[in-house]
Amino acid sequence: MNKFIFVSGGVCSSLGKGVAASSLGALLEGRGLNVRMVKCDPYINVDAGTMNPYQHGEVYVTDDGAETDLDLGNYARFTQSPLSRANSITTGQIYESVIRNEREGRFLGHTIQVIPHITDEIKGRITAVAKEDPDTDVVIVEIGGTVGDIESIPFLEAARQMIHEQGRSNAISIHLTLIPEVAQHELKTKPTQHSVKAMQEQGIQPDLLICRAPVMLDDATCRKIASFTNVDYEAVFVSYDVDTTTYELPLIFYEQGLDQVVLKKMGVETRHANLKPWKKMMEQFHRRKGTVRIGIVGKYMELHDAYKSVYEALFHAGLANEVVVEIVKIDSARLEEAADAESVLGANGTSPVDGILIPGGFGSRGINGMVKAATWAREHKIPFFGICLGMQIMVIEWGREVLKWADADSTEFNQNAKHAVVSLLEEQIDITNLGGTMRLGKSESVAINSSKIHTAYGERHIFERHRHRYEFANKYRVEMSGSGLILGAFTPDASLVESVEWPDHPWGLGVQFHPEFKSKPIAAHPLFRDFIAAAKARVQ
Ligand code: GLN
Repeated sequence: MNKFIFVSGGVCSSLGKGVAASSLGALLEGRGLNVRMVKCDPYINVDAGTMNPYQHGEVYVTDDGAETDLDLGNYARFTQSPLSRANSITTGQIYESVIRNEREGRFLGHTIQVIPHITDEIKGRITAVAKEDPDTDVVIVEIGGTVGDIESIPFLEAARQMIHEQGRSNAISIHLTLIPEVAQHELKTKPTQHSVKAMQEQGIQPDLLICRAPVMLDDATCRKIASFTNVDYEAVFVSYDVDTTTYELPLIFYEQGLDQVVLKKMGVETRHANLKPWKKMMEQFHRRKGTVRIGIVGKYMELHDAYKSVYEALFHAGLANEVVVEIVKIDSARLEEAADAESVLGANGTSPVDGILIPGGFGSRGINGMVKAATWAREHKIPFFGICLGMQIMVIEWGREVLKWADADSTEFNQNAKHAVVSLLEEQIDITNLGGTMRLGKSESVAINSSKIHTAYGERHIFERHRHRYEFANKYRVEMSGSGLILGAFTPDASLVESVEWPDHPWGLGVQFHPEFKSKPIAAHPLFRDFIAAAKARVQ
């Protein structure tokens, strides 16, 4: 069975299209279907790797090393869909390959046009995801942007063609719109009516509507929406604001029968719905007691999306430990200027915290503030978690404060540091100028026995994703470990250090990879789980 569900959005962006598409994915998986998620992004960048986090939020990295849109992170958190380069389609990729084919003469002299060449390329890529695994039942394709945008037209046209070619029971359209509230408690359906008209102008009649609204809509409003949009009344759903968590959305949609209507439209027999993991997760949510305050010391603090997966993973860890995790955003530049870390992070400081996390990052701004936070956490035995850049900060801090090498640094920040404790690999130095030296995607690390990282995973062989250029400098291994820093994990050939731990410390651990990409609400990542457990133990 190969079915396609196209999820588009109207009225405005940021309505939670990705979360709605993912929640549907979770529900269909609960019904025993094999689901694949695909994101179509209308921007012309080939991938999200070069995008500034301020503009586009976090870069989500897949096992095969693709640097993708953060929506893939939603898919990973809600569904079991394998995610790779193939699941993230951008206008840039589409044009790049059509133009390459044209240059290679593959179109035999034809004039290359948006229809059919660009739309064929889009359809080909979507179909390829369905074909990748013969067991795939449903491909959910989220079309980025808003109907009416110039950029998304080719994607909507490709969807229209696929719905037409596959037949309505094999390909359906779900449209997400906004029901705004004006004056007091007046909910307006007009923007939704217009949005569906805009879809119809593209030749697509939505089969289902998901209306984002501040509250559940009453029957009369749903009937009115249905009658104005040619959508069945039973196919109008409401994604209302929740004060719990967006992870409740699969259960909210289930209550309204979303998956049942989708299955019916696609002619799939109704199967038993297993939503146990989601129900259990909500029970954990309601059982949470007490609060731990986790300081995130980073660069891009103003924009929540820049560390999206890290924040989500902390929330998951809070569920697993049944404690509320309060995130305290600390701009590392501010910490750099502060007289001492205590006055910011300490019990009487401006931002008192029970644990500190330093996430990934690039560039030298605020580095000394991060080092200051690490020293403070190490000396005061505050649980500390360093991710990628955060692990490199632990190594620099150890060099400066324990080994007393005042100039210990990464060559990313100081090319001339005598003690370059974090640096490029020798063999990388010449190729850096050519770019493309980033270590990206999944690889194996092996933990040493009885390290904290080993305890967390309950397993010595660890598979996680990387996205970095610099490494723990091997020539300092002896001095670092001789002075007590625990080198907790290595690549299988032992050529690279993958994790460090502080000795005589409740939980101070850094990893060169990005565990946040693999955490799920129904399965918290073991490192985040243990970090929050340590912070919780400190509070109690
Ligand atoms: N800037 C560092 C490097 O390139 C860390 C990267 C990261 O944290 N993702 O190695």
